[in-house]
Amino acid sequence: MKLEKNHDRCIGAGQCVLTEPRIFDQDDRGLVSVLVERPQGADVAAARKAVYICPAKALSLVEE
Ligand code: SF4
Repeated sequence: MKLEKNHDRCIGAGQCVLTEPRIFDQDDRGLVSVLVERPQGADVAAARKAVYICPAKALSLVEE
């Protein structure tokens, strides 16, 4: 599984960082950075939750 971000969609709301600070950060423009690109184990569920809560639909979890 790969966690992908779309900076064209990200509005810097920070919900992903607030929910899963181990997996996400924000750059100096406030846009999302993915710290764990290939989540494993419990991180898969955490990443899925962040994908769900992102208000801009800027995150996706894709099969490789
Ligand atoms: S990815 Fe979504 S939740 Fe995270 S900062 Fe961007 S808009 Fe906000």
